[in-house]
Amino acid sequence: MREGLSVAEAQRLILEATAPLGAETLAAGEALGRVLAEPVVATRTLPPEDNSAMDGYAVRAADVAGAPVHLPVAFEIPAGGVAPRALRPGEAARILTGAPMPEGADAVVRQEDAERRGERVRVDVAVPAGESVRPAGEDVRAGETIFAAGVRLAPAHLGMLASLGRTIVSVHQCPRVALLSGGDELVEPDASVAGGRIVSSNSYALAAQCREVGAEPRYLGIARDDPADIERRLRTGLGCDVLVSSAGVSVGDRDHVRPVLEKLGCRLHFWGVHMKPGYPFVFGSFEGRGGPLVFGLPGNPVSAMVTFEQFVRPALLRLAGHQAVWRPRITATLGETLTKKAGRMHFVRVRLEREGPRIVARTAGNQSSGALRSMTEAQGLLLFPAEATRIAEGQTAQVQVLDLAVLAPASSGV
Ligand code: AMP
Ligand code: MG
Repeated sequence: MREGLSVAEAQRLILEATAPLGAETLAAGEALGRVLAEPVVATRTLPPEDNSAMDGYAVRAADVAGAPVHLPVAFEIPAGGVAPRALRPGEAARILTGAPMPEGADAVVRQEDAERRGERVRVDVAVPAGESVRPAGEDVRAGETIFAAGVRLAPAHLGMLASLGRTIVSVHQCPRVALLSGGDELVEPDASVAGGRIVSSNSYALAAQCREVGAEPRYLGIARDDPADIERRLRTGLGCDVLVSSAGVSVGDRDHVRPVLEKLGCRLHFWGVHMKPGYPFVFGSFEGRGGPLVFGLPGNPVSAMVTFEQFVRPALLRLAGHQAVWRPRITATLGETLTKKAGRMHFVRVRLEREGPRIVARTAGNQSSGALRSMTEAQGLLLFPAEATRIAEGQTAQVQVLDLAVLAPASSGV
């Protein structure tokens, strides 16, 4: 097994081992945020026929060229209705928005530009052919591939699927993630922490990180530092697509997770990534045995969350079929000088603030790998490159944005 990779190398190896999950059929209305596993071909033309874009009068443009003109109103076409017959030369038809154009008419005069007088209408303006008419197929033509496979379904897509009469869609499955916490010191949040107990907060933070990208967490509980307990719990997670274990993967005497994984048939691809927080990270897979991808995260709460961000999150997105797997990244200006030793890439928890045209990054408090509070205050992870030792105030750095609200301005801009 390889040891001591760069973050970039680790990410590359993980994504190389990760392919989109198979398809499942869903009710289209339930598929928000999911990724299409097949293209969608339109079986309808939209709009299906020429229709009016306005409430007004359907006419022949030639008949109103000499406006003002008076025309008899031959019939009315409400939305959802059809013309009883073709429009004859010299006639107008009352028409409502969305109603199909009568044969023989080629334009609509808006009702603001006309005045109804009993059975007749006075048209005050001339209109060119095609005015206020939505031609058949202006939006979609039957037979056209409207969405390619790999498209992520947003609200507009669900509206379009409905317009096309599509009630079911084929999308990539959501990854199911088995989450194991491990350590004799760990307890659930409602237990006493007397005697050196620690709440297994990772179970909650990591489950939420899964949900944030649409993955389904399945909690395997807290394993004691005992190979038999770890094995028993891990076995119950082998049917999932991904197995995430926090703690127990470093080289300490009590770190039993790695040997148990190997015993279960997991091939460990690499161990240790030159990053801070989060060096003790393991990646493995069951290659061809249909088992899950395995991520062994460090136990410290911030290390667990940051390694999840860098390694598990992109893999979950790829499994769900997404093409965009990385967080938005911005260039931010340092609001303070940062220093470190060369060798590891630091993921600095930063607060982000707009200051005029720039976005300024300042550390979000205590950067210890156990200090979760700074994670709650951080809007981004600033990338302090492995070999760099200093970034001075006023210089710029790349920041992975965790909370896009920082880009949200105080006004709508309209
Ligand atoms: P370990 O990786 O087992 O050496 O754990 C490193 C640190 O992370 C220790 O302080 C553990 O108590 C803590 N830790 C391990 N697992 C969790 C967890 N599930 N939730 C919160 N802290 C944890
Ligand atoms: Mg431990």
